[in-house]
Amino acid sequence: MSARVTVVGAGFAGSEAAWALAQRGVPVRLIEMRPVVQTPAHQTGHFSELVCSNSFKSQDPDSPAGLLKSEMRALGSLVIPTGEAHSVPGGAALCVDRDRYAAAVTEALERHPQVVIERRAFTPDEAESLAQQAAEDPSHSLILATGPLTHEPLAQWLATQTGQEHLYFYDAVSPTVDAESLDRSIVFAQSRYDKGEGDDYLNCPFTKEEYHAFIEALVAAEQVPLKDFEKAKYFEGCMPIEEIARRGKDSLRFGNFKPVGLEDPRTGRRPYAALQLRPENREKSLYSLVACQNRLKWGPQKEVLKMVPGLQNADFVRLGVIHRNTYLEAPKALDATLQLRARPGVYVAGQLTGVEGYVESAAMGIYAGMCVAQRVQGQEPVLPARPCAYGSLLMHLQDETPRHFAPMNINWGLLLTPDEGVKMKKDGRRLWQLEQARAAFSQWMTALA
Ligand SMILES: Cc1cc2nc3c(=O)[nH]c(=O)nc-3n(C[C@H](O)[C@H](O)[C@H](O)COP(=O)(O)OP(=O)(O)OC[C@H]3O[C@@H](n4cnc5c(N)ncnc54)[C@H](O)[C@@H]3O)c2cc1C
Repeated sequence: MSARVTVVGAGFAGSEAAWALAQRGVPVRLIEMRPVVQTPAHQTGHFSELVCSNSFKSQDPDSPAGLLKSEMRALGSLVIPTGEAHSVPGGAALCVDRDRYAAAVTEALERHPQVVIERRAFTPDEAESLAQQAAEDPSHSLILATGPLTHEPLAQWLATQTGQEHLYFYDAVSPTVDAESLDRSIVFAQSRYDKGEGDDYLNCPFTKEEYHAFIEALVAAEQVPLKDFEKAKYFEGCMPIEEIARRGKDSLRFGNFKPVGLEDPRTGRRPYAALQLRPENREKSLYSLVACQNRLKWGPQKEVLKMVPGLQNADFVRLGVIHRNTYLEAPKALDATLQLRARPGVYVAGQLTGVEGYVESAAMGIYAGMCVAQRVQGQEPVLPARPCAYGSLLMHLQDETPRHFAPMNINWGLLLTPDEGVKMKKDGRRLWQLEQARAAFSQWMTALA
């Protein structure tokens, strides 16, 4: 076969990556294992199949999700205009007729003269041989876009390239809050015994009554049922807090919420229990709730977490989940073009990179396709500037702040925030974030032209 870039996986990211390459004149081979080999969640052989909800989230251009979509459209997305052409009523959200939408994406790729499609599982041996070719010859570059349910043998190959410790098979994520929404009259900055991280940690102090009311609500709240394919290794090392609380009303107070080494400045005493918050990014615009992984449904989860002192008005940019998910620890494993640091010429796209959701995965597919097209055409990579939605997602993937790296949707906390000390009301701050993002994106478009 003549030289072609290989894209593996025709989900959200792979479909976009193949389209981005083909539209830029680069011949592509797109390998998808369905319907020959199915994943535990997909039902059809269609490309870009939605495995759960039919929502692509907000279309409002003044929201982070809407901003990302507008950037994707400008970069030549396949998924967003196809979704719009097959939309169903969804209020402010772009909701799609899943079968018509996925059939249309499949047809567009099948018809493209630059795209050759193969239906089979891509193997570790092929990956190894192609990776060796790709290192030498850009026209044989490889993009892995095999998603959260990557076929097991290929996932194992990827783990050996990046180091086992940098590829996760389960997502056990604590919720994340927007720093601006914390009640600073209650939440206080302190590391245990004032050691180590300066004021990096914030603490939500409980009184005895607040703690017991919280535990009661926590154990009563409704959980997300487990899928069959998630049951096996589920709780290893990531016990949900509601399960811990069920073992005894003091178990969280002596474990995840232990107050030792802390002193509430309002009382001068150790709180009865404390939930700690750790910065999620260099700019400290996002904080994750330490060791608060849980499987509660989203409505009840928000209600229960808002009972934590200091979080009563919290704006949750991500809620806790524990589910099957394959993804890389991007800051360690990937460079800014989504290329494996350990294997030049091998790129990763979609949810495997450490973004979350249909649209974000598709966005990272376009970007991987653009970066590979630049490599094939002998151009230097042109990276997006920090403030735009693309730059913000990349910031999440490249930020080396010590943390439990977890996939994330686009949200206000990821977008550039004004310098510390610059006080702005919420509306003004958001307007500023949108202006910065739009200016940065138009500069990127100019640089790409
Ligand atoms: C159970 C479940 C529910 C979800 N619900 C939602 C939701 O409601 N909303 C939301 O926004 N996101 C949801 N997600 C996340 C969403 O599925 C992903 O964000 C998105 O699909 C990721 O896109 P992707 O292209 O990276 O992977 P996918 O869309 O999964 O595409 C990966 C493709 O690679 C193929 N593949 C895997 N291994 C191989 C191989 N070795 N050879 C060839 N092909 C291979 C797969 O068949 C698949 O088609 C859910 C995920 C799961 C697992």
